[in-house]
Amino acid sequence: VEVFELGEFGLIDRLKRHLGPAGPDVIVGIGDDTAVLRDTGDAYLLATCDTQIEGVHFVPESITPYQLGRRAAAVNISDIAAMGGAPTFLLISLCLPSRTPVDYVDALYSGLQEETQRAGAAIVGGNMARLSERVLIDVFLLGRTVKDRLLLRSGAKEGDLILVTGYLGNARAGLELVRRPEVVVEPAVRREVMDALLTPRPRLVEGQTLAATGRVSAAIDVSDGALSDLGHVCRASKVGARIWTDSIPVSESTRTVAALTGHDPLHFALQGGEDYELLVTVPEKHASQVMDAVIGATGLPLTVMGRIGPARDGVQVVGPWGKEDVVLPSGGWNHFAP
Ligand SMILES: [Mg+2]
Repeated sequence: VEVFELGEFGLIDRLKRHLGPAGPDVIVGIGDDTAVLRDTGDAYLLATCDTQIEGVHFVPESITPYQLGRRAAAVNISDIAAMGGAPTFLLISLCLPSRTPVDYVDALYSGLQEETQRAGAAIVGGNMARLSERVLIDVFLLGRTVKDRLLLRSGAKEGDLILVTGYLGNARAGLELVRRPEVVVEPAVRREVMDALLTPRPRLVEGQTLAATGRVSAAIDVSDGALSDLGHVCRASKVGARIWTDSIPVSESTRTVAALTGHDPLHFALQGGEDYELLVTVPEKHASQVMDAVIGATGLPLTVMGRIGPARDGVQVVGPWGKEDVVLPSGGWNHFAP
């Protein structure tokens, strides 16, 4: 059997079975946005890692080393945000060709440092190795939270509303402009979607504010694609979900890029991935309180885009007039797909 036959998530499940139970101080092991480990008293330690590989996650022509540094830190900070936590310490494994200009490394670390400091964390170490022909950056990030502020994927209940921060699809629209350099758009449109792709802003204060309300039943950050990530929440919570196509927050910029390139903006929004927005579930009676808390603390709106249902529903995308259910495959990003 080769790994592509299992897929990324099948491989993770297999490893989880091999490894067995992790011990009493592991509150959550494999299967959430970060691991959750018992610290002292009510304090929890959060731990996560994520890699950026040249040719897989980025092409050097379309991202500066400074932007790449920011992105490598941001995608990890986003996972801490999805737990409602605060990042603390960051380590970097950097693999480089030996002919890489030192200026490249300086700019990369400027980006890593800026994003890390903005999140209130510090770079405290790492490791370097030579790699022929490509750059690989693996970031390991620790964070902290307390017991009653922890957000998990596993608490969604039937009837809960599904809410998301910001817009979905901007990063996928940015990727489309990278792939189609001949497409001409207004500078403001280009800036919005390219910033979303190259230097995503982790929803850290939003995650902490959501956690502080005590009303959020489940949370995840949108990295693989909203449908796929909602699928992770549904599997962890043993529920299903319906998303309403007329309620999905899609920016004017994404609609413009989709129209110019012959795509459905909903596909960008639901299957694109890499938006690093937070997707949460909240009991209906607490939804307006939660939305008010986030907009009050950060100015960022949350949008209600669906409802949790029974597990047998799977994840469904329901058409705007309710007449026909459009069931999309929940195919987001899978690292070993053929
Ligand atoms: Mg995540």
